[in-house]
Amino acid sequence: MVVSTQLDPIIEPYRNTVNAWTDSWRLPDLLDQVTIEFSSRMRTSIGLCYPERSLIRLHPVVRELEERLFLEILCHELAHVAVYRLFGRGAQPHGREWASLLNASGFSARTRLPQGTIFSTERQRATRKTVLWHHRCPQCQAARTARRPVYTWRCANCRNHGRPGKLEIEREEAWG
Ligand SMILES: [Zn+2]
Ligand SMILES: [Zn+2]
Repeated sequence: MVVSTQLDPIIEPYRNTVNAWTDSWRLPDLLDQVTIEFSSRMRTSIGLCYPERSLIRLHPVVRELEERLFLEILCHELAHVAVYRLFGRGAQPHGREWASLLNASGFSARTRLPQGTIFSTERQRATRKTVLWHHRCPQCQAARTARRPVYTWRCANCRNHGRPGKLEIEREEAWG
């Protein structure tokens, strides 16, 4: 379990708020078990979640949003980690389990922000419904990306060395 010892100064003031959400999800201390990174290299989304790695990546632009919207995005991504922990990989990314966590925290379960909130309309159009699946080899970190999960892919490098080459598959969250 990765423990992020240093919470981003942007997140820190909201620790109590976030803890209230995760308490109601019956996942106290979830915040301390999740790594939250800010990355300006994100091109297609403002928030990504890798539930199996307990990793949330946010575009720095979210720091400049009004507080309510910022918290909604944080809650949205954190709820993905919570759904994975509570219900496993079978639950839909934006399914009813996820929606109930958002609602319990006082947010509507929407997956799109109002037009023009952050990125240009053009970019919103281009990125809408973009879902990427990362296929990563846990042995050698080789990675491939596709628009769907490909369960039959194996790591060629590992196969060449007599290993099974099984890949870990993760869905990349893309907000429109
Ligand atoms: Zn490999
Ligand atoms: Zn989402």
